[in-house]
Amino acid sequence: MKRFSRFDLRQRYNLALLMTLAIASYLLILCLYLAIKSYANEYTSHYWQEHTGIFADSIQYSVTMGAKARSEAIANNFANDKNVLKAAIYTSQQNLLATAGKAGKTIDCNKGQQSFGQPFFIEASDYWCFYEPVYQDSPAGAFEQKLAGAQASNYLGYVELVVSKAEMTGLLQQILTVSGLIVGLILVVIYFVVRRFSGNFTEPMVEMVAVLKNVAQGIPGGRVSFTGAPDIVSMGDTFNEMLARIEINEQILAQKIEDRTFELKTALDRSEAANDYKTHIIATVSHEMKTPLHAISAYLELIHNNLPEGTDYDLSRDFHRRAMTRAGELNELIGNILLHGKLNANKVDVVPASLTLQTLINECVDKITPILERNRNSIKLLGQNVSIISDAEVVKHIINNLLSNAGKFTLAGDIKVNWWKEQSVLVLKVTDTGCGIPQQFHQKIFDSFWQVDMSMTREYGGTGLGLAITKQFVDLLDGEISVSSTVGKGSVFTVRIPSQSS
Ligand code: ADP
Repeated sequence: MKRFSRFDLRQRYNLALLMTLAIASYLLILCLYLAIKSYANEYTSHYWQEHTGIFADSIQYSVTMGAKARSEAIANNFANDKNVLKAAIYTSQQNLLATAGKAGKTIDCNKGQQSFGQPFFIEASDYWCFYEPVYQDSPAGAFEQKLAGAQASNYLGYVELVVSKAEMTGLLQQILTVSGLIVGLILVVIYFVVRRFSGNFTEPMVEMVAVLKNVAQGIPGGRVSFTGAPDIVSMGDTFNEMLARIEINEQILAQKIEDRTFELKTALDRSEAANDYKTHIIATVSHEMKTPLHAISAYLELIHNNLPEGTDYDLSRDFHRRAMTRAGELNELIGNILLHGKLNANKVDVVPASLTLQTLINECVDKITPILERNRNSIKLLGQNVSIISDAEVVKHIINNLLSNAGKFTLAGDIKVNWWKEQSVLVLKVTDTGCGIPQQFHQKIFDSFWQVDMSMTREYGGTGLGLAITKQFVDLLDGEISVSSTVGKGSVFTVRIPSQSS
């Protein structure tokens, strides 16, 4: 089967056809041979049966008379035929009266105890043995005997004629050889005719495949040229037209891609320039806002501290306090915007150092104590005594943010901070029993300026930048951050930070 797969379509077609024709011819010759053989066998044996009958008739007189010499002369006469191997005459007691045959041929027909009431013959592969009984009144049969007084005729003996099949077999072999030659010749003629016609179908295909291979390799300009039948020529023209159209479409497509790429590049350059400009403006404006804001805060604090004692100034004191709080929030927002811009521009460097987590977290908890007290939350620190190599400011920023969010979004609840090391990775979990975050926003909360409910800004404060910055810091340390939360039950933020090599 593997060998067959090496052939191309045309060779396969020719081979299959040739094999089919050969098998069909072989079967035809076989059937013909068997039919002829059977007919020849039948015909020849019938002929020799008749001949044996004549032999039996001719020796009737000499057997009756017991004339041995005459019997032998008759047997010799029959044995002279080139096909007869042996001619023998037996008496009614099965004694051999006379025999003649080809020299050196001893043939035993193995007739056994066959009855000789009727003629019969035994067939071997190379010869037949024919037997015919000899009656006194023979060839008169039973009818004549009936007429003569229903007396059975006298059984005198029998004759044996052994006939060779060599002539018939030779003739059959000649027939077989000649018919084989004729069929072989016809096969060769058919093969060449079919080969010529099959070429008309397969050659265009082979040519088309060669051209298509070039197309697949991106080599343009390949065409076919078919000659012969009009429909084949028309097929070639259609194929060439199709190729030409594909090439034109490819050119159009390539041009479109080039134009579009150019447009996109221009748009990208413009957008990058605009983005740089925007970042620059935001950074500059934010930076410029910081100085007057500090001055405003300082003046507000000064006025607030110098307001006279007494209830008459309570309202003024309250307004100043609120104004100071808002100025503080604005300062924080500006700080976050500047930090966000720096992180976006990759301008924050990581300075690795050995950090003891307990110390770091204590500092963060101190910082958010006012928020915890304001919202009546309790905090539990459940970490282990571990240390890692990382940037202290960055890690602190991450923890501060998660803790302040937990404190902000939990009222009269519990906050737990848990940390441990898994190989060289610090795992930190901040769990709260606060308002929780709906499932569909678990990824969104890490986007810049995004809050679950924008109206919460007023209720809880915040800018929607905290988690975006936290994520940027975690990424900066090659870490991961994830959240799991149930609305109304609370949230768990998990951070994994790999220890840096010092
Ligand atoms: P914000 O400055 O508003 O806190 P963040 O980026 O830190 O901004 O958080 C984005 C939003 O994610 C918050 O506005 C809040 O809706 C939600 N969120 C963050 N942390 C928690 C938390 N621990 N519990 C409930 N909601 C939270």
